Amino acid sequence: MLEGLKPNKVWKYFEEICAIPHGSGNIGQISAYLRGFAEEHGLAYIAEPCGNVIIRKDATPGCEQAPAIVIQGHMDMVAVADEGCGKDMTKDGLDVAISEDGQFVYAKGTSLGGDDGIALAYGLAVLAADNLVHPAIELVATVDEETGMDGARELLAEDVRGRRWLNLDSEDEGVLLAGCAGGLTQKSSFSVSRDTVSGDLLRIAVTGCRGGHSGTEIDKNRANAILLLALLIREMDCGKMLQPLWIAGGEKDNAIPTSAEMVICVNDYERYEICRAFDRAERTLLPAFRRQEPDVAFVLEETKEGGEFMIREGSYRVMNPASVEKVLDFLLLVPFGVSAMSTEPKGLVETSNNVGIVRTIGDTVVVDSSVRSMVPIRKKQLGDKIALLTSLCGGIAERHSEYPGWEFRPESPLREAWVETYREVYGEEPVVQTIHAGLECGLIIEHMPETDAISFGPNIFDIHTTKERMEIASVERTWNLLVKLLERLGEKA
Ligand SMILES: [Zn+2]
Repeated sequence: MLEGLKPNKVWKYFEEICAIPHGSGNIGQISAYLRGFAEEHGLAYIAEPCGNVIIRKDATPGCEQAPAIVIQGHMDMVAVADEGCGKDMTKDGLDVAISEDGQFVYAKGTSLGGDDGIALAYGLAVLAADNLVHPAIELVATVDEETGMDGARELLAEDVRGRRWLNLDSEDEGVLLAGCAGGLTQKSSFSVSRDTVSGDLLRIAVTGCRGGHSGTEIDKNRANAILLLALLIREMDCGKMLQPLWIAGGEKDNAIPTSAEMVICVNDYERYEICRAFDRAERTLLPAFRRQEPDVAFVLEETKEGGEFMIREGSYRVMNPASVEKVLDFLLLVPFGVSAMSTEPKGLVETSNNVGIVRTIGDTVVVDSSVRSMVPIRKKQLGDKIALLTSLCGGIAERHSEYPGWEFRPESPLREAWVETYREVYGEEPVVQTIHAGLECGLIIEHMPETDAISFGPNIFDIHTTKERMEIASVERTWNLLVKLLERLGEKA
């Protein structure tokens, strides 16, 4: 399908990778493919206990003295399929195709895994080539980046010689990433006491917020549906009439929530009062958020969904007012959004928090916050602040899923070499920046602090979705850049 595309070898390997199912957690076959490649080409390799594969190739003549270069990508992909497309992503290869306008490669009905199959394809093409000039090369293929960066976390420093690290897991050609945020999840649990009351159920909801990635879109001034719901409820000022069965919202701690809801129990008098309070609060609040969130809506409707808190129809276990107040206090005070901008590079998000999920599990309300920062101490401070607020509001704070950031190095010979090569190949200035999201480089530098790393790659759009597509011309330009960069790094021995 892709044989006509240039560079030939890169697309050949990419297509071979696409024929192998390799969603996160399902890396057995792709790992065997990489080992098979090494054997076939007579290259030394290491298969690490966690599943990472490292393949080595010697320097080309004249480049023996240059420091070894690591080309790194992750083996796994986010494997998603459109409903009814008939693909079993755990067993089937992808139907790779070229878009009608000839500009993009995509997979019919599924994600493509250009993130990060293209990194492996570039790496294999370098390893297989006999006409390139380069220092000693190691292709490091890590497992399960998309589900917690397990491969980078468990990589053994002694298995890798190179300390100049090309991470090919970025999707924006012309942008060189030279740092990334670290993160942690702060869990706040509030136990609630319940009373039994009788009445009907009303659902109060906030819907239609734009959402987005909790890191890269945290500075876009989007509303957080969970916090907006808390604001709406507080603005309604219903006092003891507010008797919720549950509060829920958001799906992932690393996504800005688009909707949230609370289901409450009311008698006839309370229903009247609550409807009035809702209308009043809606009139006050909605205009203030419409500019920011054009599709946001507040909903008040009857519901029959009592879930686990229904004793029988008309009789429910509700949170008592004091319990509700402490959860609302927390949601109204917890920081959301950007809390600091960076000084170097200037003007990027440095520290932020997203309140991603609220769930009611039995007699506990749990809130997950995703803290990110370029600066380790700021990440810790913001996590501590949320933990302190949790305990002041009567809850219990826990921290998990912590990963280190990748701090911008003022001096980086690798970055300089890339920028010079970029100028030469493109005849223009690249953008050098840091990203407010996690990359494997943070964990790698934690294992090997002396590592000089950069991250780049060709244009890929809508990654992690069935609309994922990779720009063909960009793949070729990025290959040319990679080839020239390796040449430069070999010469400068
Ligand atoms: Zn990736």
